[in-house]
Amino acid sequence: MKQPFRKIRTRIAPSPTGFPHVGTAYIALFNLCFAKAFGGEFILRIEDTDQTRSTAESETMILDSLKWLGLNWSEGPDIGGPYAPYRQSERMDIYKKYAVELVEKGHAFYCFATPEELDVMRNEQQARGETPKYDGRGLLLSKAEIQEKLANNTPYVIRMKIPTEGVCQFHDMLRGDVEIPWSQVDMQILLKADGLPTYHLANVVDDHLMQISHVIRGEEWISSAPKHQLLYQYFEWEMPILCHMPLLRNPDKSKLSKRKNPTSINYYKDIGVLPKALLNYLGRMGWSMPDEREKFTLDEMIEHFDIQRVSLGGPIFDVEKLFWLNGQYIKAMTPSDLLDTILSWQNNREKLENITKAIQPRINILSEAVDWTAFYFNHMPTITIDQFNNKKMTTEQVRQSLQFAIWRLESLTAWNDASVSQTLMDLANQMGIKLRDFMPTFFVAIAGNTSSTPVMQSMVTLGADLTFARLRHALSVVGEPSKKELKAWEKLNIELKNPPHTVQC
Ligand code: GLU
Repeated sequence: MKQPFRKIRTRIAPSPTGFPHVGTAYIALFNLCFAKAFGGEFILRIEDTDQTRSTAESETMILDSLKWLGLNWSEGPDIGGPYAPYRQSERMDIYKKYAVELVEKGHAFYCFATPEELDVMRNEQQARGETPKYDGRGLLLSKAEIQEKLANNTPYVIRMKIPTEGVCQFHDMLRGDVEIPWSQVDMQILLKADGLPTYHLANVVDDHLMQISHVIRGEEWISSAPKHQLLYQYFEWEMPILCHMPLLRNPDKSKLSKRKNPTSINYYKDIGVLPKALLNYLGRMGWSMPDEREKFTLDEMIEHFDIQRVSLGGPIFDVEKLFWLNGQYIKAMTPSDLLDTILSWQNNREKLENITKAIQPRINILSEAVDWTAFYFNHMPTITIDQFNNKKMTTEQVRQSLQFAIWRLESLTAWNDASVSQTLMDLANQMGIKLRDFMPTFFVAIAGNTSSTPVMQSMVTLGADLTFARLRHALSVVGEPSKKELKAWEKLNIELKNPPHTVQC
């Protein structure tokens, strides 16, 4: 490949709003290979402008899991660098002036519409059969009206102007020229009412300030490209070259989702997938070595890397193929190396001590520990539908209890004894089921039988990723909800949590 003109700098810019997703590692891998193939830099920036959803725990997990995979960055929030800080929440005083600059240049405008006013606008549009969209009402205000509202401290947002007609054309390294009609692009908010930037403003400003030369990211961001390109034009900055990678897919071609496939990197680590194998497998997602070999190292991938070899047909993330490749790595090790690998895989003193505490009252001779603890280490207990028969609960309640528990546990920001127990106890209570009748389902799902160590503690010791994988597996054994049921259950789950006030006659 020809060496591009600018110094190559790529980045991964995760938002720390959940567990570390394999898709993040996939995009990081291709950014790293692209930069390294040209002797450039690969950096990491944390995009935590969404302050309500971002957590420090999620950021730590994302950084740790990318490091575990061997995807190392040369600048980032943990190691600093010439463009520090690399966490957007520490850069908040930077963005506002850029939004104001665009207002002054006539490319953006103040909008004082209240959320209620905008709701009415959207409802009216929907009633007319139109797709809801900001209608540009802020543009109709006179200078004097704007000054008066600002002087009165009326809350406002800053929105970017978008052409009302025509088509936006931008270039993508893999897709060539892409066209999106401006009519499909909203007058994006750049600065929110709390004075903080949206993703779009912070992302463009930071890519520019951090001298990013190539933005390689997932296909789901294509619809943002017109806004970003326009922002670069408004600021009169050189735009990084865009490259939208194909999305990872489930074997049924749908977008990779945790309902059908575990998507957390930690899950794969917990079940004993080797970092080299996972990285190798992600390298095969839409990309291949010139000689089509299946097994290769990160260094070999960098040596032969050519982004044009990425094929756009949705790459299938097939867990069975990943396990096969992992097996190739295991079989190629010496027994001694494999022993070291197995020992270091479970070398987690805190986890082992928690397991020991749980089995201590239950064993008389040490060898009994093996049967009591197997489920803490294996991939998935073997379970059958009959094990979920419960005299005190209907099958529908069993299924609902699993699904509701998954939803509620997923929204926890801390995974510990108190948070997990409280969640399950509240759920049992709200479903009107005694805890002793409610819990057997969870014993079977997590440990494979009902006589096991206390299950809520086991879930904490196993960790969120293995717990979710087992709860989902259990649900698939008893019967996953249909689309229709899912909708009704979502409502029911919310109603159970917040029962409507009973009206007294
Ligand atoms: N923060 C965005 C994300 O979570 C980054 C998107 C981009 O790379 O522009 O994926």
